[in-house]
Amino acid sequence: VDEFDLIHRYFDRDTGDADVVVGVGDDGAVLCPAAGRHLVSVVDTSVENVHFPESLPAADIGFRSVAVNLSDLAAMGSRPRWMLLALTLPKVDADWLSEFSEGLYAAADEHRVALAGGDTTHGGTLVVSVHMIGDVDPQMAMRRDAAMPGDEVWLTGSTGDAAAGLRLFQEGSVAGDAAAFLVGRFRRPRARVAIGQKLARFANAAIDVSDGLFADAHKLAQSSSVALSLHLERIPLSPALCKLFADDAEVLSLTGGDDYELLFTAPADSAAEIQRIADAEAVPATRIGQVSTGIGATCYRDGNPVSFDDPGYRHFHE
Ligand code: ADP
Ligand code: MG
Repeated sequence: VDEFDLIHRYFDRDTGDADVVVGVGDDGAVLCPAAGRHLVSVVDTSVENVHFPESLPAADIGFRSVAVNLSDLAAMGSRPRWMLLALTLPKVDADWLSEFSEGLYAAADEHRVALAGGDTTHGGTLVVSVHMIGDVDPQMAMRRDAAMPGDEVWLTGSTGDAAAGLRLFQEGSVAGDAAAFLVGRFRRPRARVAIGQKLARFANAAIDVSDGLFADAHKLAQSSSVALSLHLERIPLSPALCKLFADDAEVLSLTGGDDYELLFTAPADSAAEIQRIADAEAVPATRIGQVSTGIGATCYRDGNPVSFDDPGYRHFHE
């Protein structure tokens, strides 16, 4: 197959979206934004053996590539709308492409995100880059730089699970419910899309946890020029993580990447509303700290500061 057959065969489904005025097949996509909304634009690239192991099934690679972008939009409080896919392939393998596109569309269809175009190239390593566009009420975007002293720090779900799951996947220890849960957290991240849009009314600032809870908390604190406390005894740990990684659970929860949970800050007087939203969405939300004047994230155990420093995953870092 040549490039054009490939695109037509795997990436040219009917979008069913009247706001995709021109989709796959022309030089550019023409998209019709909703009146009065701002657009939010994100891009996330996944490189084989950097972001995922080469043994990961193609459908999971497709699913994750979309989910990580959904998560960035969720952290902005944005509704996802459209995406473009830039794909670099070492070879053309029909089975692989078919599974990859199934996974990609599964993640996109769940949130009615239309694939409106892309780019396909031949290259030495598998690289999947998704550019996603969402929209948001102009007053509502949750920015990283907007945390306020006095805010409480919240976390959806639990962290450390995906990093533990990746370890298990690479070791091939995937038997049992607890392992299946953790491995699933790496293979099929569930971006917090619906709750992200609802939280935007109450939260001042948000970031999605992709590089590790501590590192991302530190980023949020630095962007907002505030101090952010993380109370270790309050950080939720999943039963599966406690069961299979009893000794490392806390460190994994602070440093493990790829969880795609939301870390957000909100005034204390919106706690009841936030809890109501979390209950309605059936997403756990836990208050794990506070924002105060100062700079950077600090961990506390039983009220005492604990020295902890983790820069998170950094490309190009020696
Ligand atoms: P051009 O030569 O004008 O850059 P391309 O040959 O790269 O166009 O792409 C042809 C059409 O197919 C364009 O509409 C582009 O958006 C779309 N496309 C290319 N690759 C993909 C892909 N992987 N997924 C979705 N659409 C794609
Ligand atoms: Mg062209």
